[in-house]
This record gives sequence, C-alpha cells and structure tokens, in this order.
Amino acid sequence: KLVLGIETSCDDTAAAVVDETGNVLGEAIHSQTEVHLKTGGIVPSVAQQLHRENIQRIVQEALSSSKVCPSELSAVATTIKPGLALSLGVGLSFSLHLVDQLKKPFIPIHHMEAHALTIRLLNKVDFPFLVLLISGGHCLLALVRGVSDFLLLGKSLDIAPGDMLDKVARRLSLIKHPECSTMSGGKAIEHLAKQGNKLHFDIKPPMQRAKNCDFSFSGLQHVVDRIITQKEKEEGIQKGEILASAAHIAAAVQHATACHIAKRTHRAILFCKQRRLLSPSNAVLVVSGGVASNLYIRKALEIVTNATECTLLCPPPRLCTDNGIMIAWNGIERLRAGVGVLHNTEGIRYEPKCPLGVDVSEEVGEAA
Ligand code: ATP
Ligand code: FE
Repeated sequence: KLVLGIETSCDDTAAAVVDETGNVLGEAIHSQTEVHLKTGGIVPSVAQQLHRENIQRIVQEALSSSKVCPSELSAVATTIKPGLALSLGVGLSFSLHLVDQLKKPFIPIHHMEAHALTIRLLNKVDFPFLVLLISGGHCLLALVRGVSDFLLLGKSLDIAPGDMLDKVARRLSLIKHPECSTMSGGKAIEHLAKQGNKLHFDIKPPMQRAKNCDFSFSGLQHVVDRIITQKEKEEGIQKGEILASAAHIAAAVQHATACHIAKRTHRAILFCKQRRLLSPSNAVLVVSGGVASNLYIRKALEIVTNATECTLLCPPPRLCTDNGIMIAWNGIERLRAGVGVLHNTEGIRYEPKCPLGVDVSEEVGEAA
C-alpha cells in the first residue's frame, strides 16, 4: 500500500508518500513562516495565496523524489479539518481534482488525529495510549483507543501554549535579540530562559485548583504582559526595546507553562489508570506538537511519567510540527483499519472547526 498525503491546514504546504510499513519514500514541504513572521501573525488570505502558488510543485516534488508513479498509489489522504478555512480549501480542491484524474480513493484526514498517530510510524505503540498535543494552534489531552476512536480528556479553554509563548516573545521584542532573531517565539523563550532565573519573578501556573484536565494560557499571557510593562517603567526603556530582565521573564513563564502542562497531564494519567482505560503497568504517553520540542517542558513531563510508571515518547521535531508524512501515515492507518476511505467524494467539505473524538472533559473533572 502507498499513500500520498497532503497538508495545507495552516501555514505549511506539505506532501509525502509513505508505504504500509512507515517508510517515507518521498517528502516535500514549503513553510510560510518567514512571510508570516513579518506580519506578526498569519493573514489567512496570504496563506491561501501561498498554498495556491506552491501546492502543485510540492506534491510533484514529493511524488518524484519517491519514484512512485501516481498510478501506483493506493489512495490520496488530505487534511480537511480543523484549520484555516482558506488554507484547507486549497488542499481539498487540489486533492479532489487529483483523485478524480487518477481514479483513486480519497481519505479525508483530521489534522489532530494525524499528529496523534504519527508515533506509530516510528515505534510499536499499541492502542490505547495517551496523547498530549501542544502547539501554536492546539492544546489537548486525549486517550487514543483506535485509529479514529478518541476520548478527549482536556483542552485549552482559551489559547494554545505556543500561541502564548509567541505573544510573550513578541511583547519582549525577541525578534530584535541578536541570539533569537531567527527563532520561533517558543524557541526564543527556551533559549533565553537558560540565561535567566525562574524564581526571579513569581508567576503562578494557571488553574491550580481545577480538578479537570483542561488548560488555560491567556491569563498567564496577561500576567507576563503586566510584568513587562512594569519592568519597562523601572528600567526606563521604550516598548519595543529589550529588557535587561528579559531572560528572567522567559525562565519564569517557561517554568509556569511547564508546571501547568505537567500537572494537567498527571491528572489525565491518574484518571485513565483509575478507570482502567490505560494499562496500570505499561501505559504510554505520547507528546507532540511544536511546543513538545521544548526540553524544559519535556523534563517536567518526564518527572510525571516516572512517578506514574508511564513511558514517555516524542516524535522527532520534524514530525512534531506540521508535515505531509503524518497525513500520509494517517491514510495508511485508515486504509489498514478500513475506515473513512472514500470512493465517492461527492458532498465532501472542509471543516475549520472540528473537535477530536468524544469530549469527556466534564466527566474527568467530576471524577476527581
Ligand atoms: P498546529 O497547531 O496546527 O500544529 P502550528 O504551526 O502552531 O500549527 P507547530 O508547527 O507544531 O504548530 O508549532 C509551532 C509552535 O511551537 C509555535 O507556537 C512555536 O513558538 C512553538 N515552539 C517551537 N519550538 C518551541 C520550543 N523549543 N519551545 C516552546 N515552544 C516552541
Ligand atoms: Fe499541526
């Protein structure tokens, strides 16, 4: 079996060809990050235009580097939910044309399902396992019981951790910092935090009393914002200049973020073990998304998994962020399970908003 995967849900145009055993035969990606960094965020119409300009070439590159003839493909798998409407639309209409031309089945993909299943391309991980997805656009904890069988245990009630770190980094003007100018916000915070003292500012992790596994990051952002404004006054500098205390702020916000993520994950593990939803002896926690590459946050999660006798697994960074490989692999998983493989694409639409699985987050809170 061979699947071509296509991803355009946000700001990366990506494609890959993957076989049944998880071999990546060909891959191509075009990142729009540089363009969006300049505007200080993603402008959907700009993202759409860039996807349109690049999708043909990226799919062609993935196919030709794989040396797979389009007629040999078993199916085309494409992200159709959730994401930016204008971005999803480009990938979907391109794919529908393609499957029509090639007379191949189409496999619509849920972007978060693909992130969650990526680990199975690399390691032998059996269902059920727990997954924590932390990125710029998403934040969730879910129990993965099967290819398309998810229990949503917790989610962010406001923004995602990567979004918060990006906003803090922007507020600190880290783009002007000589050591961080080419880094994403989250990476810049991690880099700078190494030079700071996390105890210099007392920034409390959010939701310390909440008994569920939900997350919140916007309160943290506002607390940090206030600290920065105060420090600017104290240090007598203008907004837009770099604070002398920037490294301490980075260390404290990273610490609060790590504590928050680790605590919520701890609750989820305990809930699943109590309910016998996870094996008491060899449970697995998979952590993915751009924020998962943060080693300080990973250390905090290691403490939690060690204490609960879980195995912690993280895909390598290039598979943690958006890519075509995970979409193609999700296609393989669905082909093997025989779920969601369409021979008729009539009426198929993209869905900008789409929760992952069955939401049991309220039940988690009541059980505690
Ligand atoms: P989606 O949410 O759809 O996956 P995305 O583009 O936001 O989309 P990723 O590419 O997975 O997601 O991750 C990017 C995010 O990860 C950014 O917010 C970035 O700041 C954050 N990030 C990247 N490296 C680090 C790091 N070392 N520490 C913390 N955050 C990081
Ligand atoms: Fe993603």
